[in-house]
Amino acid sequence: MIDRARLGKLLMGTDPRVRRMVAYWAATGVIYVLMIALMQVAVQVGLADRRAVAMLTAYGVCGVLAFAVLVRASAVLGISPWILSVLQGLFAVSCNIWLYTVSGPLREASLITLLVVVTFCTFSLRPRQTMLLSAVSIAGMGIAMWFGVSRDAAHYPPMVEALTFAFASVGLIAITLLTGQMNTLRARLKNQKEELLVALATIRTLATRDELTSLANRRHMNDVLADEERRQKSAGATCIALIDIDFFKDINDRFGHAQGDAVLREFAAAALGALRGSDMLARWGGEEFLLMLPTTQLAEATQVLARMAGAVAAMRLPEVELGRPVTFSAGVTARAAGEPFAETINRADKALYRAKAEGRNRVVTV
Ligand code: GH3
Ligand code: MG
Ligand code: MG
Repeated sequence: MIDRARLGKLLMGTDPRVRRMVAYWAATGVIYVLMIALMQVAVQVGLADRRAVAMLTAYGVCGVLAFAVLVRASAVLGISPWILSVLQGLFAVSCNIWLYTVSGPLREASLITLLVVVTFCTFSLRPRQTMLLSAVSIAGMGIAMWFGVSRDAAHYPPMVEALTFAFASVGLIAITLLTGQMNTLRARLKNQKEELLVALATIRTLATRDELTSLANRRHMNDVLADEERRQKSAGATCIALIDIDFFKDINDRFGHAQGDAVLREFAAAALGALRGSDMLARWGGEEFLLMLPTTQLAEATQVLARMAGAVAAMRLPEVELGRPVTFSAGVTARAAGEPFAETINRADKALYRAKAEGRNRVVTV
């Protein structure tokens, strides 16, 4: 039995860009097949020459297959997509012009598909490349018509050919001008997409970060805790610490709110510096912080908090001459297996209350 996944990988590759291009070319191949089928009908009803159509069909089939191989191998061969698009466009134009010379009274129909080819190219080519393709189309069409008129004026009346040429040229030039417009639209869309991505990043930061300290905010910490709760229902090795700066109101009263803010920022930076990569500190409210220590035993959590106290005590703010180091009190507890974090936090809060009551600048574990 054929392994469909392996066959798909062999035909389309694994690179998403190449896969997309192969899929596009396969769709284009279907259009070529339909054109070949229609020409066979024209041959059957005696409107086109069998031999001439057979040669054009061979050219079309070989070209489609050759491009299928080129597109599939484009990444390996280092052919850029726009070069492929130009070559595919030129091939399609050559097929159409050849078609014009072999489809007898049906020849104007081939001009419709010529316009379709150039329209298709406006999606993948730059204006200058589409202009080149249009110029080649107009020149090729002119040569094919001149060839018909000079060889068989009875079937290719000069005035009809000249006017057909003029109509088709106007159509091609109009489509080429559209490419410029299309390009502007594409550039605008690209800009808008980039702006949206920046806006999204800003919104994400605003939604998850505390503006003053740049720590995670309470909402984000709650989301993280909810995720944690969902993920490891049975594991209990997470410690939670509630941390509150001591006598912070006094700092505000003596040095002003702006200096209070500066202390909060410094505190956050110093505390973060003392943490491990897996720990997460959030601003829980005013001068209160929540620390989550995943896969940590209580003894280890106490060590982390001692390190944090050292870092905070070493903070230096020249404008805030307290006469004592900045200190904090903390309540720490380990989460019991399957326990909701709300209960763990409640316990840590009670421990923090005790730390304050027992004289501050200390860590109480429960
Ligand atoms: P304790 O040791 O009992 O915690 O005393 P405290 O003074 O730290 O506690 P209290 O709750 O009485 O005061 C906290 C103060 O923190 C009151 C509030 O004005 C201040 N505060 C809260 N948020 C901010 C902020 O964003 N910036 C500044 N500068 N102050 C804040
Ligand atoms: Mg306080
Ligand atoms: Mg407080």
